[in-house]
Amino acid sequence: MPSPQNSLQRSLSDLGVARPFSARHLGLRPADVAAMLGLLGQDSVESLMRAAVPGGIRTTVGMDLPAPVSEVEATAELRALAASNNPAEPMIGLGYHGTITPPVIRRNVLEDPAWYTAYTPYQPEISQGRLEALINFQTMVGDLTGLPTANASLLDEGTAAAEAMTLVRRANRKASGPFVVDADALPQTIEVVTTRAEAMGIEVVVADLTSGLPEGELCGVLVQYPGASGRIIDPRAVIAQAHERNALAVVAGDLLALTLLEAPGVLGADVAVGSTQRFGVPLFYGGPHAGYMAVKKGLERHMPGRLVGVSVDSEGRPAYRLSLQTREQHIRRDKATSNICTAQVLLAVVASMYAVHHGPDGLRDIAARAHRYAAVIAAGLADVAGADVVHADFFDTLLVAVPGRAEAVVAAARAAGIQLRLVDADHVGVSTSETTTSSTVVRVLEAFGASDVDVAALDAVVAAAGDAALPAALVRESEYLTHEVFNTHSSETQMLRYLSKLSGRDYALDRGMIPLGSCTMKLNATSEMEPISLPGFADLHPFAPAEDAPGYRKLIDDLEGWLCQVTGYDRVSIQPNAGSQGELAGLLAIRGYHLANQVEGAPVREVCLIPSSAHGTNAASAVMAGMRVVVVASNEDGSIDLQDLKAKCVEHSEQLAAIMVTYPSTHGVYEETITELCDLVHEHGGQVYVDGANLNALVGHARPGEFGGDVSHLNLHKTFCIPHGGGGPGVGPVAVRAHLAPYLPTHAQHPEAAKRAGIGPISAAPYGSAGILPISWAYVRMMGAEGLTTATSHAVLSANYVAARLDEHFPVLYRGENGLVAHECILDVRGITKDTGVTVDDVAKRLIDYGFHAPTMSFPVAGTLMVEPTESEDLAELDRFCDAMIAIKGEIDRVAAGEWTPEESPLRHAPHTTRALVGEWNHTYSRTEAVFPAGITADKYWPAVGRIDNAFGDRNLVCSCPSPEAFVD
Ligand SMILES: *Cc1c(COP(=O)(O)O)cnc(C)c1O
Repeated sequence: MPSPQNSLQRSLSDLGVARPFSARHLGLRPADVAAMLGLLGQDSVESLMRAAVPGGIRTTVGMDLPAPVSEVEATAELRALAASNNPAEPMIGLGYHGTITPPVIRRNVLEDPAWYTAYTPYQPEISQGRLEALINFQTMVGDLTGLPTANASLLDEGTAAAEAMTLVRRANRKASGPFVVDADALPQTIEVVTTRAEAMGIEVVVADLTSGLPEGELCGVLVQYPGASGRIIDPRAVIAQAHERNALAVVAGDLLALTLLEAPGVLGADVAVGSTQRFGVPLFYGGPHAGYMAVKKGLERHMPGRLVGVSVDSEGRPAYRLSLQTREQHIRRDKATSNICTAQVLLAVVASMYAVHHGPDGLRDIAARAHRYAAVIAAGLADVAGADVVHADFFDTLLVAVPGRAEAVVAAARAAGIQLRLVDADHVGVSTSETTTSSTVVRVLEAFGASDVDVAALDAVVAAAGDAALPAALVRESEYLTHEVFNTHSSETQMLRYLSKLSGRDYALDRGMIPLGSCTMKLNATSEMEPISLPGFADLHPFAPAEDAPGYRKLIDDLEGWLCQVTGYDRVSIQPNAGSQGELAGLLAIRGYHLANQVEGAPVREVCLIPSSAHGTNAASAVMAGMRVVVVASNEDGSIDLQDLKAKCVEHSEQLAAIMVTYPSTHGVYEETITELCDLVHEHGGQVYVDGANLNALVGHARPGEFGGDVSHLNLHKTFCIPHGGGGPGVGPVAVRAHLAPYLPTHAQHPEAAKRAGIGPISAAPYGSAGILPISWAYVRMMGAEGLTTATSHAVLSANYVAARLDEHFPVLYRGENGLVAHECILDVRGITKDTGVTVDDVAKRLIDYGFHAPTMSFPVAGTLMVEPTESEDLAELDRFCDAMIAIKGEIDRVAAGEWTPEESPLRHAPHTTRALVGEWNHTYSRTEAVFPAGITADKYWPAVGRIDNAFGDRNLVCSCPSPEAFVD
């Protein structure tokens, strides 16, 4: 250790530069690395990686990335990029609106690692805080839509509408005929729905619903309420007609409008979908935002996505959990209701807290103010020659006819700092919002040609006219948000404490390691996170003119280029807003390619081979891409059975579209046969889809585009540091070789003209979840090629270290050729269960008592635990985890020895809560053994509830806030 004196005597050049960011991202110190290599019998990290990664796939070119910069420099670059964007006042509408994120929510949810670093709440005992926030979300959506059951978020409004279309078809097998979509639906919704329908062979009819449904059979109809043009039609007539023809009715509703307009459920809708963006979630240039879906009674089991419900814990208290977990896509595979996995939890939490903070009266006032400003603008336009408001009924959006002048009006508004919607040469759209002020109104009216605007006088005119703009028959009468939680947090002190109370119940990365296989819970550095709140990134409307978004354009171009370098592919699209969506985009690219190369008379290439061990989203996505799933068997050792693969390739040769393989495999092993597999599928005319969710085992060492893949998706929320958010957001870029590039996602409103026509959009916004791309950009920028390569090596080193330490206690199920695993390892608990009755659940829950989040349970193999330590954990934390596992094995040995029965062991009663400290104690183990098994510590994590009864919750499905009395002892 140099003394301070020594440092002070050294010259500037001796002092060098500040410690590089990579040294902060990587948890292992050089001495740790040496000790760990020693345990594995390896001389160096390089020799370990040479032994682990098959020679045939190792990259020969490497990654051409810019030299890394420091956190300070990256921050400065990102600030400059953000500053070059021009958010202006967004009045374009189309499902994206100005909103104010209450600072108490911005800082204490969106910017708080206790919320954003949490994992999906599969372990409910350590997730009660976010589960409560999500049940608030479900209650909020259910109340506002007037439908009893809402899920815990979907990816955006466009995909929610597409999910509603497939739900309608699943739930309503009697009905045949097309899915009818309102011509006044959001244009991107129509596009997303049409793109998905086309792949699945569903007919979509876009129709003007003003005077009812078009003639003929239909399976369902979607009505936009209010419409994209701002007009409000009474949906009841269309709903009644649909029901008469045995079809289901979907209403796409604006939640803020629904505080003033009667709820879709009350009007007879079967399903409601939409976005919750304008409930305090920044525009983020298109996302991430939480989409929503609510359904009438009887449809809950058809719903896609996750659903939070109420059950009871072992001590008889109500406790939250994910309901109907067997619906989880991991298990349902090609029978899944949808491919959605990662959703938008963090943003759903923000939206629900916005409702908690404002309460029903506050929301009604925000809506009424936006409506009033729209009415004032309409009154002002009455005095402007050549500007006519087209629809007399509106909530916040006006369609204004300005024959021949639309471009000029939009340009004048832009010069005054306002973005309006250019509908066509003769029409302009104006949408007010929470951020509209009197000054905005003046500037908007002036852009249309008004002068001497007097807002107060116009307001008096509106007042005198009464509220004629909201159709009287649709004024809301039903109540909403009556639950106590929405009526008790109006002061900031109450709000802050509520947020803190909930996050305090949860175990996230800010407390300790989350050793989840397949999900890469690595560091989400503060310097990566901070830029997302910069106004230049947060406040931009997705359909803002390209000239207003040069910073985003540069950031996206950089990131797409860097991801090409990382993967060895030729082109990347960051549009998909989750891994599942990247899968669908990739498969649609394959489909597009085969259709373009279809030989007259030859069979259609529609068979998708999927190994039995694949992640459940793979099969679900293949079905959504219109493909037929054929399963390829696995060998005893978990690897793909090449004989079976050969047989399936031969059998389906003419129809073979693709194989989807995860690499390294979902078993955490680098399979040697991957190149052979790619060659085989190519020989039979198929394309190779490499699921890149496990890219953390490859970056810098092997590139799927180089070793045989045609297309991959990556999960930026796994490998590239976007936090998990408690189950979302995510970004799932799709990466392709050049021959598939023409079939990448497009979007009719894309800022880049070349990307407007083509395969269609996979997300509602042109760049999907653009707002969180600065996180991954910062990671690559600060790590550089060498840092990223080392990160992979350290992730593999750590996984092998854990495997080596734990193998004698919990056998490691699969290994590669050299006895090494990749970036994760599967610990087999099945033998233990057979011999002692102690289950994988018992081990997982007992880990909570030791202060850990459980590893992934029973995926991909039932009765096992999968551990992925990542490169961000330090050796002390890895050892703390291994020590806990070994101590748990010691407890299992006591069960095996007959000292405890499994039922009366600390394993089965885990996790223990503070109640173990007081009252009667009639267990065969001590209180200390129960709650302080790893020694007494002041920093003990206490779960809020004991073990939760899953079966009870599914039998008694309750998916909205329970009454406060339920929590009374
Ligand atoms: C996480 C994961 C996915 C799905 O990604 P989402 O973002 O959750 O949709 C797909 N495949 C594998 C192997 C994964 O681990």
